[in-house]
Amino acid sequence: MLDRIVDDFDDNPAAMTYFYDLFRRIYCQGEPVERKGMQVGTTCIHAPEELIYAFGANPVRLCNGSYHYDQIGADFMPAKSCSLVKATLGMLSSENVIPKVGKLDLIVNPTTCDQKKKASAMMSAMGYAVYNLELPPAKESEAARVYWQRSVREFTNQLRIVTGKKLTKKNLMAAMAKTSRAQVAFRTLHNFRRVAPSLILGKDAFLVTNAYFFDDIERWTASVEALNIELAQREKDGFCAAQKKAPRILFTGSPPIFPNLKLPLVIEEAGGVVVVDETCSANRMLYDMTSVDEWLVNDMVDSLADKYLKPCTCPIFTNNDDRIRRLLDLAKSFAVDGIVYQTFAGCQVYEMEQRSVADALNKAGFCMLAVETDYSPDDMGQLTTRIEAFLESIKSRKRKAA
Ligand code: SF4
Ligand code: SF4
Repeated sequence: MLDRIVDDFDDNPAAMTYFYDLFRRIYCQGEPVERKGMQVGTTCIHAPEELIYAFGANPVRLCNGSYHYDQIGADFMPAKSCSLVKATLGMLSSENVIPKVGKLDLIVNPTTCDQKKKASAMMSAMGYAVYNLELPPAKESEAARVYWQRSVREFTNQLRIVTGKKLTKKNLMAAMAKTSRAQVAFRTLHNFRRVAPSLILGKDAFLVTNAYFFDDIERWTASVEALNIELAQREKDGFCAAQKKAPRILFTGSPPIFPNLKLPLVIEEAGGVVVVDETCSANRMLYDMTSVDEWLVNDMVDSLADKYLKPCTCPIFTNNDDRIRRLLDLAKSFAVDGIVYQTFAGCQVYEMEQRSVADALNKAGFCMLAVETDYSPDDMGQLTTRIEAFLESIKSRKRKAA
């Protein structure tokens, strides 16, 4: 996958070399990830990483995109589980875990979809210390907000026990500054992707955000800042990373996670360009920022809790109108020509929400292609045929409109 991402395209940004080398070292050569302090595994974006950093530990997102680990997970997981959960548990049950982040001192498992909830007991049975971070099933009501704020405060207490450290205003502010700088870098990159013709391809943008799962946050931020400087230069030079008329695609649904970047890659190999996404391995993970009212520790923790609940557009929540609003906003502001909606086989929440999303997008004049897939490479041919037909239909619509 990495060879295809790097070698099958001309004009990769020079600043992407950091990320290509990182994935080659960590995933292909099995080098350990260099980070100091305790490691806290997280299984979803709802685990507040600022708190983990504030206690001197490192968050590492365990969501995994490997077909190898998916097959290991398939040996003991129900056949209908989604690839993401199978691969994550397959990885955790293996002896040589890649990426090599070292011993996990704790795994935080937000109680999101049913498969994640039930994965908790399986991870405990493997010998991991697992903390269930209880998430409400809805996010609009005040009761849900209060429930979640209490869960996050209890999580803080758990981190205090595990790390033996105290939460102070100073260390929490430092942790929030770290993640804010990373988010500013991400937002700058995100905004460069509005430019038409595109300055960077989606396969590279996904690799950058996937690196955030395990890389040292300061190294990651500095590398994204360097990439942004190069993109600013590309914009000045009128550089085109894709053909001027390449259909612009918004990618949503089950998250693309390295090495399973097959669908974004198929889109770009077929002549489209993924200009923006609404997924929890990229945009949904990094876009929304914390807004603090009072700079007192308890209020800061509550503000963090709000950030991890209110703006989240994951379909595990009931009444998910925010997701449709967000998709429409992204589709319009990034001038997209079509939407590709990925659902992993076995993921009911994305599958069930697909129809209402398609209806809303179609009503607004956007066409959407829904694709059910998994981590197996077997459907590559079929995916390519469907994506090529979708891109062709977009082109012919544009020709007719012109
Ligand atoms: S899809 Fe939703 S529940 Fe699953 S990892 Fe992403 S944010 Fe978490
Ligand atoms: S893709 Fe769906 S089933 Fe899989 S972890 Fe995410 S929400 Fe759960």
